[in-house]
Amino acid sequence: MKPKVAFYWCAACGGCEEAVVDLAEGILDVVAAVDIVLWPVALDFKKTDVEAMEDGSIAAAFINGAIRTSEQEEWAHLLRRKAQVVIAVGACAQMGGIPGLANFSNRAGVFQTVYQDSPSTVNAEGVIPETTHKENGFTVTLPRFFDTVKALHQVIDVDYFIPGCPPTPQLLADAVTALLAGKLPEKGAVLAPDQALCMDCPRKDTKPEKLAISEFKRPHEILIDQEKCLLAQGLLCLGPATRSGCGSRCIEGNMCCTGCFGPTSRVRDYGGKALSAIASAADSNDEDQIIRILAKIPDPAGTFYRYSLPVSELQRKRL
Ligand code: SF4
Ligand code: SF4
Ligand code: SF4
Repeated sequence: MKPKVAFYWCAACGGCEEAVVDLAEGILDVVAAVDIVLWPVALDFKKTDVEAMEDGSIAAAFINGAIRTSEQEEWAHLLRRKAQVVIAVGACAQMGGIPGLANFSNRAGVFQTVYQDSPSTVNAEGVIPETTHKENGFTVTLPRFFDTVKALHQVIDVDYFIPGCPPTPQLLADAVTALLAGKLPEKGAVLAPDQALCMDCPRKDTKPEKLAISEFKRPHEILIDQEKCLLAQGLLCLGPATRSGCGSRCIEGNMCCTGCFGPTSRVRDYGGKALSAIASAADSNDEDQIIRILAKIPDPAGTFYRYSLPVSELQRKRL
């Protein structure tokens, strides 16, 4: 019998599912080697199909996306019960990701923006989603939308993490191969190299030993040198604080790393580490001058905690 595998998405954009599809012909090897029992983006399995399965009968559940609704929480618990191994796929599942930025607000704030204030919204009656609605004698229910977005391991026990927004198809293929060969590492591991991106960046030789940045710039403000370290050019590249394993794909595209692979194992708070790496690159020892240099960085909280707010020391804004 082939091992049963499930893919599921929670609060996600679909990019992690795209990474699975991007396995291209490699997907055929995966399909040949495993029995896919759940994959809502591609196959029409129902929740009742999964509920009917014996507990522990799924070899591995690959879950992407953060947890922000009661439905996603229910699915996470269901798949935890049914699967021997749960793998959090992508920055949203691992750290809360982009949906986790909603923790700078709350349910009421998000609904106010989305259903009332956004320029494209026409909602004169101020209708917002409710968990139950009666119409013509029928009652429909909707999932509850939580105040706080959580990473997957803040809701269920998670065995492994595949980082990235989205992860590379290669990391996914490596994880499936290790699973099939029974060669997964110690529980809790992040399935990517445990070193900073700068270590395998193609521009690392142009990064000075001691950076001295007197002004941070936005990418549209300068003509970016395609060979030189981006941080040395005054651009906000978060490679020094970010785990490697993506193949430096943003750098290859002449764009700064925004930190989607999260921290290495030696870092407790990604945003704090990124801020400290950037602040130490400022060309001054004077606190006021450093503050003036850093003031050029737009939305610092959103920049440094872009993918990791829910798992940070802050977790959320206190409102
Ligand atoms: S990690 Fe990135 S690609 Fe994956 S679901 Fe989240 S936002 Fe989309
Ligand atoms: S700071 Fe960015 S561009 Fe410079 S070496 Fe590190 S990852 Fe590469
Ligand atoms: S360069 Fe940074 S932001 Fe881009 S994919 Fe790699 S880790 Fe993610």
